[in-house]
Amino acid sequence: MITVSNLGKKFGKLEVLKSIQVDFNHGSSYAMIGPNGSGKTTLIKCILGMVIPDTGIITVNGKPIANDWSYRNLIGYMPQIGRYPDQMKIGQIFDMIRDLRQDQSHMDEDLIREFKLVQMRDKRMHTLSGGTRQKVSASLAFLFNPRIMILDEPTAGLDPIAVEILKEKILAEKNKDRTFLITSHIMSDLDELTSNVVYLEEGRILFNDTIDLLKEETGEVKLGKAIASVMKRNLKDAEKV
Ligand code: ADP
Ligand code: MG
Repeated sequence: MITVSNLGKKFGKLEVLKSIQVDFNHGSSYAMIGPNGSGKTTLIKCILGMVIPDTGIITVNGKPIANDWSYRNLIGYMPQIGRYPDQMKIGQIFDMIRDLRQDQSHMDEDLIREFKLVQMRDKRMHTLSGGTRQKVSASLAFLFNPRIMILDEPTAGLDPIAVEILKEKILAEKNKDRTFLITSHIMSDLDELTSNVVYLEEGRILFNDTIDLLKEETGEVKLGKAIASVMKRNLKDAEKV
């Protein structure tokens, strides 16, 4: 379980996260939604220890993450933009990452196989299309069977076949006692893949509910419409004040 309490982050004068309070429970799946620049990636990077927050505490399985990086072994991360050494070949990247782990007994190479990356072992990273880079990133995120999966816009840039492969993989893994945190702008993907929605705007969480409850409350069948309906209601409430 991940808990985020009173998290704040500024970049210069720009307040990107404002007293964020949210829990991500073990075995649950979360869609993180919000306009561009609302702070989704920054929140994810704080959880990963890649951005150091100004205020607040993050715990993973009860332990504060500050100054103890061992929790990162529990997390598989697919970045929004995967950056790799230009001259390395796909195969070398996988070998290098594999070698970082001592326990190599439970490797999950499904995606490497299904994305046909084995056949592309000798291609250098700088020659790859954006979609192929995303395939490498997705395969790396799943490689060590981590309990916590954080996927930042995982389907962006993937071709339709690859999107389906990745979605199938997420669905297959979701029940296995894992936590998923996924950001995307594609509501239909999130509707299929997750059960909870955390909505962020200008660095604040505006709501955090199960998708079922959100749909029930708004009378909408689709996640996108349900969110639009809540946003409209929020706007009306704000006008009243
Ligand atoms: P999202 O993922 O929701 O699109 P981000 O978390 O990437 O949003 O960005 C939130 C805001 O913080 C944006 O205005 C972005 O320009 C700014 N930002 C993100 N990272 C940095 C950084 N390292 N330095 C300065 N500003 C940043
Ligand atoms: Mg982002």
